[in-house]
Amino acid sequence: MVRDDRLYKLLGVKPDASDNDLKKAYRKLALKLHPDKNPDAGDEFKEVSHAYEVLSDPEKRRLYDQFGEEGLNGGGGMGGMDPQDLFSQLFGGGGGFFGGGGRGRPSGPRKGKDLVHRIKVSLEDLYKGKTSKLALQKHVICGKCKGKGGKEGAVKTCQSCKGQGVKIVLRQLGPMVQQIQQPCNDCNGEGEIINAKDRCKDCNGKKVINERKVLEVFIDRGMKDGQTITFAGEADQAPGIEPGDVIIVIEEKPHEVFKRKGDDLFAEVEIDLLTALAGGAFSLPHLDERAVLVRIHPGEVIKPGSIKVIPDQGMPSYRHHEMGDLVVQINVKFPDSLDPAALAPLENILPPRPDLPTYPPNVHVDEVEMTDASERRTKSGLGGSGGFGDDAMDTDEEGGAGPQVQCANS
Ligand SMILES: [Zn+2]
Ligand SMILES: [Zn+2]
Repeated sequence: MVRDDRLYKLLGVKPDASDNDLKKAYRKLALKLHPDKNPDAGDEFKEVSHAYEVLSDPEKRRLYDQFGEEGLNGGGGMGGMDPQDLFSQLFGGGGGFFGGGGRGRPSGPRKGKDLVHRIKVSLEDLYKGKTSKLALQKHVICGKCKGKGGKEGAVKTCQSCKGQGVKIVLRQLGPMVQQIQQPCNDCNGEGEIINAKDRCKDCNGKKVINERKVLEVFIDRGMKDGQTITFAGEADQAPGIEPGDVIIVIEEKPHEVFKRKGDDLFAEVEIDLLTALAGGAFSLPHLDERAVLVRIHPGEVIKPGSIKVIPDQGMPSYRHHEMGDLVVQINVKFPDSLDPAALAPLENILPPRPDLPTYPPNVHVDEVEMTDASERRTKSGLGGSGGFGDDAMDTDEEGGAGPQVQCANS
């Protein structure tokens, strides 16, 4: 159920591909198209990298599946990330991937991963605004060793990989020699080794420690489902990287009474027939500590299902806090029956009955009885539901497919 599968096609995978499938597919293509190896394929490499960047991020993939590439605008569309960066982030290592080196990658510290956290917010809180406290566990640079992992001089460059954290392995494939980069297993890809006795006691040589951090998330009035709040640099810290951001995604909880469309609220209310005809009032609780009461003036007459607008009782708009409208559909509850002896006044009040149509003299008017549909006797093959069921009504949907015949003994 995806809107657009161009990005999947670029990677040569199906839209239901797993993360691992995506990674494998991208790896294969990237090795073929990488500009160090294939200078003519530059744009293709960018395209494929972009596709992978989007599809490997669960949030972006969800947006893309739901809305196509338009859904990514502003959320990191084309050119959101340098393909070279993505490539080396995935397959490790600094410097030129194919040993050639020197292709200009942007300098400065690499940014760590963003932490995306969804919070469910009630419509009431989006109406009134709220400050939520959010506690999260994160890695911070160990204060004792200042992120070195041990005493000064205890940290040694890994000899096996010369501090790169990765090793290049050559593999013969027919006439071609392929170079594959693998994480170094002597240092677990860290590029350095610390003797057990020299390890920092606080972080056990890990350079970072866990810390509980409480963020105050200010939910402003009028915020919408999917809107994000960013805490810059609050994600995990690690030596040599700029910490990523904590990104809070607002998820609006469904409400029992109100549905929201933009800044407007929609609700259904029910009134009785007397109120609909002769006036009265209805009320409904609002999203703050109020209820709204609406008077129906005598003689106004509310028809069943009529749609009315109550100005300025919708949601506040984000930032400006201008109020949207509340749109109500008014349903009218009819009495089940009336006392026939008491009906005379209605004859005077309501408009007179319209005349029945007249027919040509050759048409015989046959007077018949009707019963309630729920009391209808089961007739063979019609399921006996009595109502305007799906079978009875929706034949026009399949227009052109010929008459729909339902077998009585199916
Ligand atoms: Zn430490
Ligand atoms: Zn190593």
